[in-house]
Amino acid sequence: MASEIIPFNRPYLTGKEQAYTEEALRSRHLAGDGSFTRRCHQWLEARTGCAKALLTHSCTSALDLAAILLDLKDGDEVIMPSFTFVSTANAFVLRGATPVFVDIREDTLNLDERQIEAAITSRTRAIAPVHYAGVACEMNPIVAIARRHNLRIVEDAAQGIMADYRGSPLGAIGDLGSFSFHETKNIMSGEGGCLLVKDPALALRAEIIREKGTDRSRFFRGEVDKYTWQDVGSSFLPSEPTAAFLWAQFEQAEDITRERLAIWDRYHAMLATLEQRGLLRRPIVPGHCRHNGHLYYVLLPPEIDRGMVLGKLREAEINAVFHYVPLHSSPAGMRFGRSHGDLTLTTALSERLVRLPFWIGLQETQQQRICDTLGAILGR
Ligand SMILES: *Cc1c(COP(=O)(O)O)cnc(C)c1O
Repeated sequence: MASEIIPFNRPYLTGKEQAYTEEALRSRHLAGDGSFTRRCHQWLEARTGCAKALLTHSCTSALDLAAILLDLKDGDEVIMPSFTFVSTANAFVLRGATPVFVDIREDTLNLDERQIEAAITSRTRAIAPVHYAGVACEMNPIVAIARRHNLRIVEDAAQGIMADYRGSPLGAIGDLGSFSFHETKNIMSGEGGCLLVKDPALALRAEIIREKGTDRSRFFRGEVDKYTWQDVGSSFLPSEPTAAFLWAQFEQAEDITRERLAIWDRYHAMLATLEQRGLLRRPIVPGHCRHNGHLYYVLLPPEIDRGMVLGKLREAEINAVFHYVPLHSSPAGMRFGRSHGDLTLTTALSERLVRLPFWIGLQETQQQRICDTLGAILGR
């Protein structure tokens, strides 16, 4: 039998990437902030309603930029989940700040907003909610807490493009937000990301920090007659060919999201009976959160050995994977951060989580095989 491994991810190309990249090459504008970058910025600003969108090399660098912008320093604290990617924490650690890990909700696996207030100290400066799987955190209570305690909100919306919370686009609810355009994300340019600046008071300085601490962007807009060193900064802007590639994906963002949601809905329907039989738990999406089909995971029963399940899926040529090792239990976690409470759900749920293959082009028959195999492994 021909080997037919079902990969976990397969980057989707719209077909226009090559033409737009060539157009960028022909224009001989290869550095950043050319016409494709401008188009991408306008698209992001129009979609999210934020004051300014700025392409970056990655979501990681967008978060780095955000931490510089907020002037975080030694001893400051930032509240975040432990169940997240390392970049959420690193951005603040690089400024000398301390991540304070708060437990997650049982339903969405997102930062538990009911536990934030108890974690606030006189040193707390910001909250960094992470919208896991493109499903929103409970942003209304989080925004209310931030207002009450005069804290900034930096949304790690790496997985959140095209998703919303009570009609508000993820990444543009807090003061600052970030998307990732890494090849594992819904909309991608290989590596890539952006910073979303909701607060207009931060927009100009964000531009300056992104351009090595200079007012080069204002110079090109004709607002100043030379550009000079204005502030701290670094190089965060991607080249035009990358922006051109990304533009091809932005043009198809609605279709990409629709296709991903169809795949997500198929998994959800196929796995309903396994859930009814108590063999797994499916993702929970609150009615007021519109997600984007970023990923599909299941939670195994606590007594099931996840390594065994992943191994048997691999034997059946299905590449399913686990997700985050919680930051607080990682080697660097307690060196740089601290936990608020014992993070019971973070530990318990992260160990039970399995992500199923998910990419545009995944066939219904393949999904059926994945679900049948999973049922056979769990149902014995
Ligand atoms: C993917 C991801 C990142 C990192 O994105 P890059 O663009 O690869 O830097 C950060 N946070 C979360 C939650 C992610 O899923």
